[in-house]
Amino acid sequence: MLAKQAWRILSNPTSLVTWVLKSKYFPTGDVLNAKLGSLPSYSWRSIYSSLEVIKNGSRWRVGNGKLIHIWDDRWLPTLSTYKVISPPNGNPEFPMVSALINPITKWWNVNLVRATFLPFEADTILRIPLTHNMLEDKIIWLGNNQGEFTVKSAYHIAYNLIEAKKDGECSSGDPYKSLWKRLWHLNLPAKVKIFAWRACVNGLPTMEAICSRGISNNSGCPICEKAPESINHALLSCDFSTLVWNQWSENPLGTQEVRWSFIDSAMFILSHHSQPDLEFFFGIAWAIWYNRNKVVHEESCLSHQQVWQLAKSVVEDFSNAVDWDFSQGLFLSNGTPHPQVFSRLTLMGQSRIMVGTLVLE
Ligand SMILES: [Zn+2]
Repeated sequence: MLAKQAWRILSNPTSLVTWVLKSKYFPTGDVLNAKLGSLPSYSWRSIYSSLEVIKNGSRWRVGNGKLIHIWDDRWLPTLSTYKVISPPNGNPEFPMVSALINPITKWWNVNLVRATFLPFEADTILRIPLTHNMLEDKIIWLGNNQGEFTVKSAYHIAYNLIEAKKDGECSSGDPYKSLWKRLWHLNLPAKVKIFAWRACVNGLPTMEAICSRGISNNSGCPICEKAPESINHALLSCDFSTLVWNQWSENPLGTQEVRWSFIDSAMFILSHHSQPDLEFFFGIAWAIWYNRNKVVHEESCLSHQQVWQLAKSVVEDFSNAVDWDFSQGLFLSNGTPHPQVFSRLTLMGQSRIMVGTLVLE
């Protein structure tokens, strides 16, 4: 299979064939970012066509960071896309991962990483180990557990790519690009946006996900105990979740049987309905998950009406608070907390207000 040849070029940068092709087609970069060129040879054209398979089945392991593009390449040790999801900081002087590494300490430039990425993503990056001898960045294969390239695993990835295209998704790579783009501009607290993204990329620690990693052997839904707890079950089709969704009278998905995955439901709302609808959709899902975590970790539970109210306030209070000036102070002149401060504290689950140590998100 041609993908195997492309893989050999990637993993053996010093071989003769790599050297010949490199000098002609990708003199400045790595093969994954190579262009087809104006008069490609037959063999190069063939290898080039299999690069998409390689791109979808591999990620970078950070060495000195010089070959890895921060925003375009797959280099994070996270499931799903392996790509950075923090919105780009618009600074074109910092395109490569090496810019995030302090050349003297040979460790991450912590302040820069924290200033550039969303908090949870900064944490992920700062946990990536760096070696003291700053080796070259390396491509690793993700198609199977062993990290070894095999034709069979490449075939699976090629097959999934073809299936994805058949479904009418765009060929530029990520069919959900429009969703990611919109997600970070929604009027929602950062924690809800991060939750929404994790739910869309199958990144929530559901019982089913925990089981598949061998950490537990009980995949059952902790709320209804009737079905395995997948993301779709937890957020959309669990009996309890259905009761919450039924409270949303303008639900664009209707109240009929849930047929779509979470991400497809979000895509549907994105392309057919208004931004507030999408904000409500994510807000409700977040509140459902918040309650589910309460059940799992605190053994307490809200009613479906309370979950609905929580969702409503997380969406509505945030849009009201967007243009609220915090310099007005946290308290009214009579000494009582400002109503918005109060509602936000209630939302955060604080039962007491401690003057002097008041912390807003
Ligand atoms: Zn359930």
